[in-house]
Amino acid sequence: MPLARLVEAADALVATRSRTAKTDVLAGVLGDLFPDEAEAAVGLLLGRLRQGSIGLGYRTVLSAREGAPAASEPTLTVADVDAVLDTIAALGGSGSAGARNAALTALFERATAPEQEHLVRAMTGEMRTGALEGVLTDGLAKAVGLPLAEVRRAVMLSGSLPGTVRLALEHPEALTDVGLAVLTPVQPMLASTATDVAAALAVTGEASVEHKLDGARIQVHRSGSDVRVFTRSLADITARVPEIVEVALTLPAESIILDGETLMLDDSGSPRPFQDTMSRFGADAAREQVLAPRFFDVLHVDGEDLIDRPLSQRLAALERIAPAYRIAGEVTTDPAVAERVADEALAAGHEGVMVKGIDTAYAAGRRGKHWVKVKPVHTYDLVVLGVERGSGRRKGWLSNLHLGARDPEGEFGPAGGFVMVGKTFKGLTDELLRWQTETFPQHAVDDNGWVLTMRPDVVVEVAIDGVQRSSRYPGGVALRFARVKRYRVEDAPGGESALQAKAPAEADTIQSLRALLR
Ligand code: AMP
Repeated sequence: MPLARLVEAADALVATRSRTAKTDVLAGVLGDLFPDEAEAAVGLLLGRLRQGSIGLGYRTVLSAREGAPAASEPTLTVADVDAVLDTIAALGGSGSAGARNAALTALFERATAPEQEHLVRAMTGEMRTGALEGVLTDGLAKAVGLPLAEVRRAVMLSGSLPGTVRLALEHPEALTDVGLAVLTPVQPMLASTATDVAAALAVTGEASVEHKLDGARIQVHRSGSDVRVFTRSLADITARVPEIVEVALTLPAESIILDGETLMLDDSGSPRPFQDTMSRFGADAAREQVLAPRFFDVLHVDGEDLIDRPLSQRLAALERIAPAYRIAGEVTTDPAVAERVADEALAAGHEGVMVKGIDTAYAAGRRGKHWVKVKPVHTYDLVVLGVERGSGRRKGWLSNLHLGARDPEGEFGPAGGFVMVGKTFKGLTDELLRWQTETFPQHAVDDNGWVLTMRPDVVVEVAIDGVQRSSRYPGGVALRFARVKRYRVEDAPGGESALQAKAPAEADTIQSLRALLR
């Protein structure tokens, strides 16, 4: 396929917000592919190269492109690009940087300006198209004329969208035969969100209400003495987690696929903060901290696939095989019982509950109604300490907010001052962006061309999922997933009446945020 055809499709995807229109575009382009170029093409469309990460940093790619005048006519094919990427992936050792840059520059010289632009985005993972996996699956079903459910299932069970595209183009009839394979990762099931347990139960009906642990997702496969551990994105981390491998080997089954969460516990058995678990995943992390695996689902036991069985049966199998490693929960229809489980989860230091329809099968892909998560939302009134000039879509706007908490005692700076605890540009509507851009310069005390430092006079209500310990911020805490709820300022769009406006002196304190650290 000509690269220009792919780039045209990518542009068409950006130009529409309609899912149906996107599906049609993708069905068109996938239907025109030869099977043996399918994986490369899907990689270039999704911005996840078939070759994986091959040391192409943003700077490297940009500087190669800058040194390459664009071609006037399109001549490149998807296969040409793939071959160059293979060459780059095979380079290594001293002097490889030069060879890599030369190969990249030569590639860019063969590309037209729009093709260059697309290649830069695909190589750096910064696609304008956003997350496309779901629509791409829809488009594939349409392109090959197979039921969507069948295609989705093949993607989930093979754990590979590009591989499924290839198979569907080559042998569409073989798609139904794609099954679970122990040691091959499966796409994980995801959850939607509800504001409270009663709302969640209204969605699921009778449910297993389980503690929601704040660690990292793990999928553990065992076949005899062979064990593999995968992350949520299906990366193989077996070598980094020997303690999880050891646990898997003690279980009373020959072959097994378990879904769960891993986290670090302190001496009393309480979970340690999320970032401790994540740092333990690092390639060269200290090994003295032990990760505890906890499981909430089982997809296969001793030759028997359980994914189509109701959750009640899968939980019974889990209880049989790994009772000591099960995540706590209760099956109920009663919101009061669910509420109690949620309270217990929070008291034990977990982040909330998962509410899962007890009759439902294991289904990956889109966030469905079968698993619903409920996390208490914390909102805090914080002070805007500065704002960054936006880039990309937000160029020309004052966008990313620097947020501060009050420090009445002067524990972390001058008494009555403010301590930075995080940044956010989430939750800002166009109207709010416009308002910020117009009014914030009036509060500015400094401008380094990127950040406008402001007098601490604007209070904003921010929702967060929690906090984590931070060595970057002076107060020792950083917000997790902060998003703007509303400005506590009289004249802000959607802002408060004089009654609810808040003065900086009424903002929440750094101590109240630190209290969320467990
Ligand atoms: P979220 O990442 O906020 O969408 O929540 C879903 C994630 O919660 C899953 O991917 C798991 O990593 C994690 N999790 C923790 N406890 C459970 C549980 N009991 N059941 C399912 N997922 C859980």
